[in-house]
Amino acid sequence: MAFSRRSLLVLCSILAVSFSCGLNMPAGVSISRSEKMSAQGLQRFLDSSPEPHHATYQSVKKLKELKFEELDERHCWKDKIKAGGRYFFQRDPVLGSSVVAFVVGGKFDPSSEKSGGFKVLGAHTDSPNLRVKPRSARSASGCLQLDVETYGGGLWHTWFDRDLSIAGKVVIRNDDGVVEQRLVNLERPILRIPNLAIHLQTAAEREAFKVNKEDHLQPILATEVKKTLEGAAPPPPSPTSSDAWQKAQSPLLLTLLGSSLGVDPSSICDFTLSLYDVQPSSLSGAYDEFITSARIDNLFGCYVSLEALLEYVRDGEDVEDEDISVVALFDHEEVGSSSTQGAGSTLINDAVGRITRALDLEGRGDQEARVRRSMVVSFDMAHALHPNYPSKHEKYHDPKINEGVVIKTNSNQRYASNLVTTFISREIGRSVGREVQEFVVRNDCPCGSTIGPIISSLTGMQAVDVGTPQLSMHSIREMAGVKDVSLSIEWMKAFLKEFRRIECTIQPSSN
Ligand SMILES: [Zn+2]
Repeated sequence: MAFSRRSLLVLCSILAVSFSCGLNMPAGVSISRSEKMSAQGLQRFLDSSPEPHHATYQSVKKLKELKFEELDERHCWKDKIKAGGRYFFQRDPVLGSSVVAFVVGGKFDPSSEKSGGFKVLGAHTDSPNLRVKPRSARSASGCLQLDVETYGGGLWHTWFDRDLSIAGKVVIRNDDGVVEQRLVNLERPILRIPNLAIHLQTAAEREAFKVNKEDHLQPILATEVKKTLEGAAPPPPSPTSSDAWQKAQSPLLLTLLGSSLGVDPSSICDFTLSLYDVQPSSLSGAYDEFITSARIDNLFGCYVSLEALLEYVRDGEDVEDEDISVVALFDHEEVGSSSTQGAGSTLINDAVGRITRALDLEGRGDQEARVRRSMVVSFDMAHALHPNYPSKHEKYHDPKINEGVVIKTNSNQRYASNLVTTFISREIGRSVGREVQEFVVRNDCPCGSTIGPIISSLTGMQAVDVGTPQLSMHSIREMAGVKDVSLSIEWMKAFLKEFRRIECTIQPSSN
């Protein structure tokens, strides 16, 4: 390609103000190599976790690499847990969309009055998306479609005109009668929800672009003509499968799933499938200071919680620890947390009870006393100050991207933060030399909620709601800060390290 003299001059001037990995950054936003590496780690997690089962699988993979031992909820844990040990379990490995990992401190003493509490980092694996309905086949106007259902409160207009694929879990009945579950990810764009051309919309329709969630979000899989030309005949129903279930599915969908998994489509008996955007995450902005991706809410929280625990272990901090450090990643937060594997389930109480009983072999431990010495950090994303909608933010509580962890407070208990836990959280920020940011919602705005109040009320543990500022929450393409990844991990690690020391300085109420 030839360059004109003018373009060469422009190129030289650009090179003069840039260096190998991007533009020179103003001092306040400089991003270090390690901060960028943490952000790239988050990108890998986001890209390989198109839905909650994959997010759990990726988390379990990391735990296994660090020699965390898997426990099975269906078996007794007596004699299985000891001080200095690292463990994890999945709520019903069959469902596999939530996971709890824990590390028993090397100095855990079951009889100690001053230690042996739980330090819990909690986040959620799910994000709003579209899910394939139990009877998936649908066609209209010469197009083969899939019937989908909305999951959670998505910004649905952002799902139009995106290249969509499918991922999830599939149940397969083998010839020998054994029923298997397999993760599936079709990876390539096979679906699209097209916008209606502007020419076909009235002025009023253009002004109020409203999505009917039943009629307008059904994606197109193929044209019927193409299917006929390709001769993609429906797979014959398997004698071992439910005919009625098979017949209600899109044959093309079963064929795609079967070829991705290397199985006969007729052996597929059930599935839970989510749609997702195939565009991978990016570092964006003039200084590469933003991460743009789907599912930042709340795979960001899952990633930083787990990384904090793994780094804590890698650094050997757990050897001197007297407490139990826990990371709990729950499914179904976006739809209220009431499920077998959501924060509203027995999951966390079961974990606390079973760990306590397994460790307190002489029966001297007291679960209620341990709970009172515990604290939960519920990490979920926070609303960054939006430059185009500043009036939507409370003026004095305006979190900014790339300025670190935010404490979220709400007097109406939409967040679990209280007098003691916010104090401890600020002290943790000071211990790493960085003040935390604060968020409250405006009085004339509705407020979201998190797993914080749910876990706190179920377990009786004190809790704080924290997060990292982001924009475009619940869009198919969200936006957060590169620096905030390592700042969050640093704060979470400091919580694991400093909680007991800070908590011990607080005297009981004197009146
Ligand atoms: Zn969330």
